[in-house]
Amino acid sequence: MVKFYNSLTRRKEEVPCHENKTVKMYSCGPTVYYYPHIGNFRAYLFMDNIRRVLKYNGYSLDGVMNITDVGHLTSDADEGEDKMLVASKREHKSPWEIAKFYTGVFMEDAKKLNIDLPEHIVPATSVIQEMIEFVKVLLKKGFAYETSKGIYFDIEKFPEYGALSGMDIKEKLAGARIDVDEEKHSPYDFVLWVKAPKEHIMQWESPWGMGYPGWHIECSVIGDKFLGEHIDIHTGGVDHKPVHHENEIAQSNCHYGHQVVKMWMHVEFLQVDGGKMSKSLNNIYRLSDLAERGYSAEDFRYFYFMAHYSKQQNFTFEALESAKNTLKSIKNLAKEHKNGTAKVDTSAYEEEFLDAINDDLNMPKAIACVLKMLKEERSQDVYASLMKFNQVLGLNFEEEDDIPDNIKEKAEKRWQAKKNRDFATADALRKEISDLGYEIKDSKDEYQILKK
Ligand code: AMP
Ligand code: ZN
Repeated sequence: MVKFYNSLTRRKEEVPCHENKTVKMYSCGPTVYYYPHIGNFRAYLFMDNIRRVLKYNGYSLDGVMNITDVGHLTSDADEGEDKMLVASKREHKSPWEIAKFYTGVFMEDAKKLNIDLPEHIVPATSVIQEMIEFVKVLLKKGFAYETSKGIYFDIEKFPEYGALSGMDIKEKLAGARIDVDEEKHSPYDFVLWVKAPKEHIMQWESPWGMGYPGWHIECSVIGDKFLGEHIDIHTGGVDHKPVHHENEIAQSNCHYGHQVVKMWMHVEFLQVDGGKMSKSLNNIYRLSDLAERGYSAEDFRYFYFMAHYSKQQNFTFEALESAKNTLKSIKNLAKEHKNGTAKVDTSAYEEEFLDAINDDLNMPKAIACVLKMLKEERSQDVYASLMKFNQVLGLNFEEEDDIPDNIKEKAEKRWQAKKNRDFATADALRKEISDLGYEIKDSKDEYQILKK
């Protein structure tokens, strides 16, 4: 039985699902206003982890992730400027160009990390009409009201508000400062639709004049459109719990008059050098920064497995180095097992691995089991189990094995010749390699061997 920790009930529970073991899963996606950093990718590796573990257990996935390309203000609440517009000014590009560029960067990095992406990836701006319809329902049912600035959700109409993050909304309201916006019924009411000033670049027609959606509404609406009114799992980072997810729950549950999401799952933050990643400390790393220092996306993928998702994980280059070395030794051992001749019964390892992943994604324990198994006598049975486990791990055991050693040697000799500006030797070796059916692709600091 697969059990995950449900942040809403604060218990480990059996995974909910629909007919035919289909799990409908919603994941809060990136705001595409800047390069995604490795902390963001902890959230998507977490999503990948859930998806792969469920598939390993015979579930099928119907997954959705939004791309926020409008409405996310510089604070998660309703203050500040739209992040897309900030980027648009910074880079002298339209918000659409910004969104296209950073969505591309996100997808490329996700691919490098071998993240099992959801079936539907949906930009917020593609569902504006649906958002308007959703807000209309909330207005009609009396959960929302209009002011001169926009349409607001009236949280006093939803007494369960705050259940996810454990806040007592009555207490909070009693102690609240008076909101600067006197038209709002309560300071915690949040915006569903903003009436846009004329100069605002992103705006759409609506029954309330030209405007744009608040940030939270997109997730309720995209979830509704692609998964319907019963969603099994909803994921996101812990930072989303107190505002974004409380607001999503309020919107969706009031829209339908029942609970929409059964299981909420949150991943803790990645820290860097024991603290928050920040511009001032110059420690916001992207995958490309790791690559410059000689670490692949896969090294970072393996690093993810070294901590449980519910705990903060501390990123240091020493820890990444250790992840890289362990990964290398796993790959070497895998190769030895692939050619092994011993007979090994791996059923106990398979059981241990399954128990670990099914116990709320205990990856450190699952990895410990893999490392223990690899110490066995060299055996193809071990290799077969490792390949099975790899449906969850998502590591690449193929690349090096595909290229024969003599080709690798020639390629290395050619690279050295090229570096020494001995182009005649380099060209001759390239031809030899080509005649044997392989091709060399050079980039600035490295080369790649490809099968023709
Ligand atoms: P954003 O693009 O800012 O909306 O964030 C995308 C996702 O990354 C959200 O689910 C955040 O909770 C998550 N996130 C942001 N920073 C970190 C971090 N340092 N560690 C883990 N997750 C993070
Ligand atoms: Zn969301």
